[in-house]
Amino acid sequence: MAEGKNVSKKWEKYSIEGDKLVRKNDFCPKPECGPGIFLARHKDRITCGKCGYNQAEENSSEEE
Ligand SMILES: [Zn+2]
Repeated sequence: MAEGKNVSKKWEKYSIEGDKLVRKNDFCPKPECGPGIFLARHKDRITCGKCGYNQAEENSSEEE
């Protein structure tokens, strides 16, 4: 339908959840990896294949 919007391509790397910007591709926070090392996304967590870092995925699992 409304296809005529001039949306910058870079926004494809982000998604808007509510009013906050969520990066689709997270980098490993460990200094030994850092930006450039992507985290692998799993169903409920994200892991780094290089250093083994892993953290729970922040899904919109707000318990009501
Ligand atoms: Zn890492």
